[in-house]
Parts: sequence; structure tokens; C-alpha cells
Amino acid sequence: MRAPVLAYIGLGANLGAPVAALQNALAALAALPQCTLLRHSALYGSTPVDSSGPDYVNAVAELSTTLTAPALLQALQQLEQGAGRERPYRNAPRTLDLDLLLFGGATIHSPTLTVPHPRMRERAFVLLPLAELLPAHFNAADLAAVQGQSIWRMAG
Ligand code: ATP
Ligand code: CA
Ligand code: CA
Repeated sequence: MRAPVLAYIGLGANLGAPVAALQNALAALAALPQCTLLRHSALYGSTPVDSSGPDYVNAVAELSTTLTAPALLQALQQLEQGAGRERPYRNAPRTLDLDLLLFGGATIHSPTLTVPHPRMRERAFVLLPLAELLPAHFNAADLAAVQGQSIWRMAG
């Protein structure tokens, strides 16, 4: 058995019923084999930055997993498919997006997987929920870099 690794998953949705989609996705992450859902951030609302369409709902989940990073990515992609994810064009609106943000301290550069997620530090909708779980990981300059972006913490 591999030693468990802490993995951080960025969740996002802006089509259909995005709050329900994120709640269902958190339950599905908790049910993944070889994974334990330890914590998750609040849900955040955000205005599309690189994408378009309705406002997004975002969150970050912390998993402990004995899966490899590629196996975890594959499991995430199956959950996206199950939620009806389509990819008509780059950055299209979506029913569910699950990005692997961090996988322990690993640095991965494969054709299908880059970790840490290359764009996470420039996106408030990733950085703020991630910083909620890992406050020591980010400093004031990191947070200032995304300050202009429209994002709000949702109630509940
Ligand atoms: P972005 O990566 O800018 O957030 P996106 O989430 O809309 O864009 P997708 O269409 O969901 O992009 O994914 C495109 C490809 O990105 C996937 O097929 C996957 O192989 C690859 N990928 C590379 N690194 C990661 C990662 N850390 N997490 C998720 N997918 C990744
Ligand atoms: Ca994404
Ligand atoms: Ca993605």
C-alpha cells in the first residue's frame, strides 16, 4: 500500500444547478476508492474570468489518498463525465470541472497532467478557497495578486 498523500481538488461549475453539482461532487469525492475527504472550503461565487456564461460556484477539497496522481486524475474525469461535462471549446461553460491543484509536494509535468496546477495562483476562485484550507501556503502578495477579481463567499 502506498503512503497516503494530501491532494487538493479545485471544483467549479456554472451550468445547470452549480451548487447541487458541487455538493454532489463533494459526496462523490468522499466515496472514491482509496480516498478520504478530510475537509473542504466554503462555496464561493465568482464571475467568469477566462470562461464565459453564468457565474461560477467554486470550492476546494482536501483528500487523503493512496491513489497515484494519474489514477486520481482519471477518477476526477470520470466524475466530470458522470455530471454531464462537455468540452465544445476551450474554457467553455461547464456542469463540473475538477482540477488537481496539489498532490502532496509533487511536481508533475506529463502530457496529460501538470501539478501544481499551472494557473491556480492567478485565479482568485482557486486561490481563496485553497488559502482557506492552507493559510500558511500563501502570503499577502499572493492574495494581492488576485485582488481585483470578482469573488464572494456564499452563505451556508
Ligand atoms: P484549466 O486547466 O485552465 O483550468 P480546464 O479546466 O477548462 O482549463 P479541461 O478541459 O478541464 O481544462 O482539461 C483539459 C486537460 O487538462 C485535461 O484533459 C487534463 O489532461 C489536463 N490537465 C493537466 N493538468 C491537470 C490538472 N492538474 N488537473 C486537471 N487536468 C489537468
Ligand atoms: Ca479548470
Ligand atoms: Ca479541468
